[in-house]
Amino acid sequence: MSKELKEWGLFINNEWVKSDSNEREPVINPADGKPIAYIQKATIDDTKKAIEAAREAFDKGEWPRLPPGVRAEYIFKLAKALEERMQEFSIAETENTGKPVKQVYDYDIAYTVDNFKFYAGASRIIEGIAANEYISEGTSILRREPVGVVGAITPWNYPIMMAGWRAISALAAGNTVVIKPASYTPLTTLMLADLIKQVGFPKGVFNVVTGPGRTVGEELARNDKVDMIAFTGSNEVGKRISEVASGSVKRLSLELGGKAPFIVFDDADLDAATEGAVVGSLINNGQDCSAATRIYVHEKVFDKFKELLIKKLNKVVVGDPKDPKTDIGPMISKEQLKKVKEYIEIGKKDGEILMDGSSFSMGEGFFIRPTLIYTDNNKSKIVQEEIFGPVPVILKFNTYEEVIEKANDVIYGLGSSVWTKDVKKAMNVAKDLRFGTVWINDHAPIPSELPWSPMRKSGYGASTSKYALEEFTVLKHVYVDLTGKVRKSWYYQIYGQKD
Ligand code: NAD
Repeated sequence: MSKELKEWGLFINNEWVKSDSNEREPVINPADGKPIAYIQKATIDDTKKAIEAAREAFDKGEWPRLPPGVRAEYIFKLAKALEERMQEFSIAETENTGKPVKQVYDYDIAYTVDNFKFYAGASRIIEGIAANEYISEGTSILRREPVGVVGAITPWNYPIMMAGWRAISALAAGNTVVIKPASYTPLTTLMLADLIKQVGFPKGVFNVVTGPGRTVGEELARNDKVDMIAFTGSNEVGKRISEVASGSVKRLSLELGGKAPFIVFDDADLDAATEGAVVGSLINNGQDCSAATRIYVHEKVFDKFKELLIKKLNKVVVGDPKDPKTDIGPMISKEQLKKVKEYIEIGKKDGEILMDGSSFSMGEGFFIRPTLIYTDNNKSKIVQEEIFGPVPVILKFNTYEEVIEKANDVIYGLGSSVWTKDVKKAMNVAKDLRFGTVWINDHAPIPSELPWSPMRKSGYGASTSKYALEEFTVLKHVYVDLTGKVRKSWYYQIYGQKD
């Protein structure tokens, strides 16, 4: 007998409620194309209710007024609750996203627990600059206060992690939140709401609304009662959100796409660099904003690098994401798989396919094997645009100037890496690349303490570190008169005469 699938509600004011629409949508397991749960297809009215709940909790509730240490305690308890249920969250995230379970357990969830613990600690040291008499007659004090109601809109590729980056960091800074997860992968965000309730967060502080970006997402961006949008996703949607939000003057934090260069000089440790290239390009099934999909290799070592890379890519295990031996699982959807295959077709025209995994299939899942493309055309779409699949592209270069120019010649500016034993060269590259993160002899680590902050068309803001918490605060200047005089020394400039 088949198991009844769970139907999740919307989480508003700490209660699970049904959508006004009376419509639900299936959540699909990309490994077999079958539904694993149902979610509500929320309406604009549902979204407004969640916004009202967050507004009330911010304007009249205790959350923004709690001493930082008390708020930190809630976030820390949430981290512990997630840590205790890592197994359950890992299974749900793996089933919903198709990511390999070893990555989900040891990275996505473990790192999210660490992010939460960091936000809890960091929330206690949010501060303005030291007080001083910048004008001799008064003392100025700077306060950092929460922005208000934050609308968090998250992508499908790192569901629980992005809920942490965009919503839990906002809570830590004293804001209240309405989060809209991507419809492909809402499950762990909904499960997080269960933990919020279990930990006993005040009602209205954290609300989840599932449904289409065009209705739920745009209402969050448009609504006057939302003070800020924290969005992580594509450039196209980021631009749309900016347009919709422009009518209501709200703060935006936009973390958008990426197209990371991976630069290998002729003195690099090629074994390490090829290992890094496999990991950097296949992380998260290749569906990662920092994926190393443009691999620039010095022409002197190109052949050797290519040979080693092909050997290693051939060893990659593609299969059931729940199997701990699996390295990469399926693409998130049929559409995404189609898109990746279209890029491979472009690669055939603009370059040469060195390894073709596009004909691989496994049941009804959206699988593909790693595919390696060579091109000398830096303007090709496979070099300029996000492929979002296990499809690294390799290119040759000769001089330092040439590779820096090519690496910077994309609209994006998120992650990047350089591989060399020469410290001087590495540090020059770190200076010359216009990317928010530069890794030297590695590709991908983002400690909770350091900012993941985009440059150029990858957006603006920060998702980790104390700077993420600063994003979610506004500065308030408080000026205190020290003289007690009726007429301060400058009043004559406006009215009356100088004494
Ligand atoms: P997406 O932009 O299609 O969707 C992101 C979210 O926006 C989803 O919740 C979606 O429902 C919602 N949305 C869609 N249309 C909307 C609209 N008109 N108004 C408001 N919200 C709307 O992105 P995706 O396909 O889910 O995720 C992949 C993208 O995210 C890639 O470009 C990737 O690089 C980027 N990403 C960036 C980072 C980062 O840290 N910079 C991290 C992860 C993913």
